Amino acid sequence: MNTTKSRTALDVLSAATTFEGAGFLVHRPFPARGLTDPDPFLLLDEMGPVELGPNEAKGAPDHPHRGFETVTYLVAGRMQHKDSQGHAGILRPGDVQWMTAGGGVVHSEMPENEFFRTGGRMHGFQLWVNLPRRDKMMRPRYQEIPRERIPTAVRSDGKIRVRVIAGEALGAKAVIDTRTPIMLLHYTLAPGALVVQPAPPNYTVFAYVFGGSGNFGSNERGGTAHQMVLFANDGEAISINSSPDGSSDLEVLVIGGTPLHEPVARYGPFVMNTKQEISQAIEDYQNGKMGQIAAST
Ligand code: FE
Repeated sequence: MNTTKSRTALDVLSAATTFEGAGFLVHRPFPARGLTDPDPFLLLDEMGPVELGPNEAKGAPDHPHRGFETVTYLVAGRMQHKDSQGHAGILRPGDVQWMTAGGGVVHSEMPENEFFRTGGRMHGFQLWVNLPRRDKMMRPRYQEIPRERIPTAVRSDGKIRVRVIAGEALGAKAVIDTRTPIMLLHYTLAPGALVVQPAPPNYTVFAYVFGGSGNFGSNERGGTAHQMVLFANDGEAISINSSPDGSSDLEVLVIGGTPLHEPVARYGPFVMNTKQEISQAIEDYQNGKMGQIAAST
């Protein structure tokens, strides 16, 4: 007998629409009034989707981070980034950049030059993952994984496909290394398909829908695009059922991780444990201790 208990869907939250950086549209399920930080996660932004004309794409020019990780995953469009560690790269659809800011970096996240010129569809995600106290001041680290190196699994009937960015699903294991146990999965479910994804009982787990619609958890709560479903800690798996009458696939991110249970002091791009550490971060940034981006040659 299968005794795996499926978790209950606790809440369904609609993302707020806001503008970030130099003014690009994002859907932001949290932080929000009803949900500040589903420990260990600090923020989720869905960038777009938006159809951009030539020279319309916007980005986030030079800004610092300290004390956490930013994970960028593109579905459409192209971005380029540069940072104070002398690192530069281009992100294409399906690529993942997992940046551990640690003690501090200054970086820019901009539309890639050619994409800026031509315009087109822009769609992607940025997730902020908190770092435990012991790692907040670690040396910055980058993991840049191109699309073809992200492990993908497809169920034998072809109705479920998962891209495993962090953690494990359908027998595929992520290549990205995380500081604490994290699960980040992109599931695509054909109409009517049902997936049961194991998740350790202590994990905070939520799903974020960005295409189609479905029912979530043992209580089958409905969720659709730009909605986040937060699961209760009452089981070892979560269930997702793509709407059978849907004309499009259900596209969903399943995100989970072990809570840190540490105090969170946050101020814009800095997330530490105490106010004193925030003051220090601001001072260090102002004194140039997080470096600056070298002028391009
Ligand atoms: Fe950033």
